[in-house]
Amino acid sequence: MPTARQSRAGVINCDLGMSKPFDIELERLTSQASYSEIARGVAAGQRGTFFLETFGCQMNDHDSEKVAGLLLSRGYQQVETPEAASLILYNTCSIREKAAQKVFSRLGEYREKQNEGKVIGVLGCVAQQEGEEIFERAPWVSLVCGSASYRKLPDMLTQLEAGNQRVTGLDTDTDATFETEVTRRDNPWRAYLTIIEGCDKACSYCVVPFTRGPERSRGSDSILKEVRQLAELGYSEVQLLGQTVNSYADPTPRKMRFSELLLAVADVQGVRRVRFTTSHPSDFTPDIVEAIEEQPKICDHVHLPVQSGSTRVLRAMQRTYSREVYLEKIAMMRDANRPIAITTDIIVGFPGETEFEFEETLSLLDEVQYDNLFSFKYSPRPNTPSLSMSDSMSEEEKGRRLAVLQDRQREIQSAKNARLVGKRFEVLVSGKSRRENQWSGYTTSHRMINFASQERELLGTYVQVRVTGAGPNSLLGDHAV
Ligand code: SF4
Repeated sequence: MPTARQSRAGVINCDLGMSKPFDIELERLTSQASYSEIARGVAAGQRGTFFLETFGCQMNDHDSEKVAGLLLSRGYQQVETPEAASLILYNTCSIREKAAQKVFSRLGEYREKQNEGKVIGVLGCVAQQEGEEIFERAPWVSLVCGSASYRKLPDMLTQLEAGNQRVTGLDTDTDATFETEVTRRDNPWRAYLTIIEGCDKACSYCVVPFTRGPERSRGSDSILKEVRQLAELGYSEVQLLGQTVNSYADPTPRKMRFSELLLAVADVQGVRRVRFTTSHPSDFTPDIVEAIEEQPKICDHVHLPVQSGSTRVLRAMQRTYSREVYLEKIAMMRDANRPIAITTDIIVGFPGETEFEFEETLSLLDEVQYDNLFSFKYSPRPNTPSLSMSDSMSEEEKGRRLAVLQDRQREIQSAKNARLVGKRFEVLVSGKSRRENQWSGYTTSHRMINFASQERELLGTYVQVRVTGAGPNSLLGDHAV
């Protein structure tokens, strides 16, 4: 779920669009992930200062953590405003409609900054998608770098210092992005870890195969080594990331399956929770459910995007599964010996979607009873096959369908959450309210709970919370001792 936020220490990440804890006063926490290379870096600020603004999904958030770590290790200092920075970086997302126009409009705000001697750089999916065209449309930009080229950023900045006017990094097929020993993690308890980059699925509406390139999996030995490091640094929750995380294909001779990797990560001493996102239905196999059943440290939450409840629309989307096959995957989870929360993504108004096909999506909601969903109106994206399909539905009708869908889901969530009142859950405390004695955190099923406690310090700890109230997007509770 795309959201905009600055990448900085202490930001509470509101994953998957779930509502934020109320009135959160962010505790500014020193990153515990100052790996040795950062420690060895030249004095902070010696090379200049950078401001990094991030849009997009968790993959982008994590990319920004890598970029920040890389720059810190090279002697740059991170600052909170573009005014205080000598280097302004804008990590972009192309999921939303008219992403490129929005990027150029934002870049317009930075136009004057170049005259103040600042370097302006564009990172991420729009950088990859638009490439050198960005220099034509925004000549005050000096650096364009896609997500697979972040390792080259220090060299690119050196080239700029040496007098080059414009530098680019637009690789798509390198796996150098996996080496994250200098990552500057924003959350002191939960660490993101990219295990697979790119995508081979080619859904007809999606730019990811173009902007992030083909699938490349990181070796299981390297993943497990980093998980051990993270656990030693005090991270107790590890979230494995990939556009299609469960398509993971271990390139090492061990050839670990994704489910085996989940179990191996959970086995690392100090790891208390393992999450993973995003799963593709076609690669969602029974052994993943068995791993969740077998190992309580693997969180009881699966994000399984369906996109539509109509098999005809799914075929037009090139989603590689039918409604019936998707429902078999859901049944597999419902049959598990442990309840599993299921969330999804849905696009309404895909080219040619009839009223009946939209109704099929609504009936899927009724049947699956999702715990949460992230819904979007279809909009054509550059370089995608669906661009050539007739997109004749009015924005008004797309908006109507979206509102109907969201209303239906709100009812489902309200009813499901109401059934949780009186139950107890383990919560990782990740937020503190300005209001006295009010805290917030997430259950293993990724439900957010705002709760009261008389304890003086709870951040980063695991506590038992009894649910006392419920809304569609979050729960209320009391610290249960
Ligand atoms: S699975 Fe489809 S929607 Fe997801 S990243 Fe790949 S092409 Fe895009």
